[in-house]
Amino acid sequence: MIHFNKPPRTGNEDKYVLEAMNSLKISGDGAFGKRSQEWFEKRYGCPKTLLTPSCTHALEMAALLLDIKEGDEVIMPSYTFVSTADAFALRGAKIVFVDVRAETMNMDERLIEAAITPKTRAIVPVHYAGVGCDMDVIMDIANRHNLFVVEDAAQGFEATYKGKPLGTIGHLGAFSFHETKNVTSGGEGGLLLINDERFSQRAEIIREKGTNRSQFFRGMVDKYGWMDIGSSYLPSELQAAYLWGNLEEVDAIQNHRLNAWKMYYTQLEGLAKKGLIELPFIPEGCVHNAHMFYFKVKDLETRTALLEQFKAQNIGAVFHYIPLHSAPAGLKYGRMFGEDVYTTKESERLVRLPLYYGITHEEIDAVCDILMKWSAC
Ligand SMILES: *Cc1c(COP(=O)(O)O)cnc(C)c1O
Repeated sequence: MIHFNKPPRTGNEDKYVLEAMNSLKISGDGAFGKRSQEWFEKRYGCPKTLLTPSCTHALEMAALLLDIKEGDEVIMPSYTFVSTADAFALRGAKIVFVDVRAETMNMDERLIEAAITPKTRAIVPVHYAGVGCDMDVIMDIANRHNLFVVEDAAQGFEATYKGKPLGTIGHLGAFSFHETKNVTSGGEGGLLLINDERFSQRAEIIREKGTNRSQFFRGMVDKYGWMDIGSSYLPSELQAAYLWGNLEEVDAIQNHRLNAWKMYYTQLEGLAKKGLIELPFIPEGCVHNAHMFYFKVKDLETRTALLEQFKAQNIGAVFHYIPLHSAPAGLKYGRMFGEDVYTTKESERLVRLPLYYGITHEEIDAVCDILMKWSAC
C-alpha cells in the first residue's frame, strides 16, 4: 500500500503539542502561535501574518478586508479548490472564471484584462502545484485598473516567483496548512499574509470576532469591545504547536519533497519523450516547492484506465478539481469569461502521484514501475 499523502511529522510535534497543553494556554495566539507568525514575517519579509484555522478562513478574511459586497466581481481560475470561490461568493460577489494555461494549469494572465468590468474588485491568482502565476503581469493589470490581488498560495509555501515568495506579492496572500500541504498545523490550518499594512489592524479585529482584543492584550487600549464585523478566525495553540514542529524542520521537509519530485521527473522522462505522458513545466523565474507531482495522459478514458491500475496495486494516485464554472454552485454564483478551451480538457487528463515527506525511493520506484508496465501495453 502506498498512500497518496501522509501528514508531515518530523518528530518534535508531540513534544510541542504537549508543551502547549502543559502551558495551560491552549486558545489562540499563545507562544507557539506568536513564534510561528514571527517566523513567517522574518523569513518572507512580510509586514504581518496571522495564523487562521484554514486557508479557507484566510481567504474569507481577505474578502472581508476588501469589503467585497453584493454585485462585486472577482476574477479567478475555474480550475481550483472550491474555497477560492466560496470566500468571495459568501460576501455576495459574482465569480468570473478565466481559462487556465495548459502548460501550468495557472490562470491565463493574458485573458484577465478583457474580463474586467466596472464591477470588478479583485483578482485571485491560484499558484497551482506551487508554481507561480505570472505575477508581474497580474500586478500590472491590477495597478492600472485599481484592483486588489489576493494570492491563493494554499499550495505555494516556500515557492518563489522572480525571487519573491508566493503569497507576498499581492495585497493579501493565503497559505494552507491542511494535512495534504507541505507543512501542516495538525490537519487543518492556514495563514493570512498581509503585504499591505493598511489592512493589518482591521485584520486583527476581524479575526477576533470583530473586537480589538489583540490591541487590548498588547496594552494599547484599556478595554476591548465590538468594533467591526468579524468571526472566529483564530486557531488553537495546539495547532500552532504542531505547525512549529514542522517549521523547525522546513529544510528537511522541503529537501525530501524536492528529491522525490526529481526522482519522479527523471524516471518518467522516457515516457514523456515517447509522447505517452506530459511532464510538469516550470516557467523561467519560478522556483517550485514540490507541492505536487502530476503529469498528463492523452484523455479522460486513458486516465480512468490508468487510475484503475494504480488502485488495483493499492497505490494512491488521484485526480482533482472538477472545474468550478460547470459545477452547480459555479453556475449559480459565477460565470465563465470567454471560452473554456483548456480548463475542462486539461483537468481531465491530469494524474497526481503519491508525494509526501518520508516517501521512500522504493515507493517511488514501485509507482513508476506501474507506469512503465502500463506504457508497454
Ligand atoms: C488546499 C487548498 C485550499 C484550502 O485550504 P484549507 O486549508 O483546506 O482551507 C484552497 N485553495 C487551494 C488552491 C488549495 O489547494
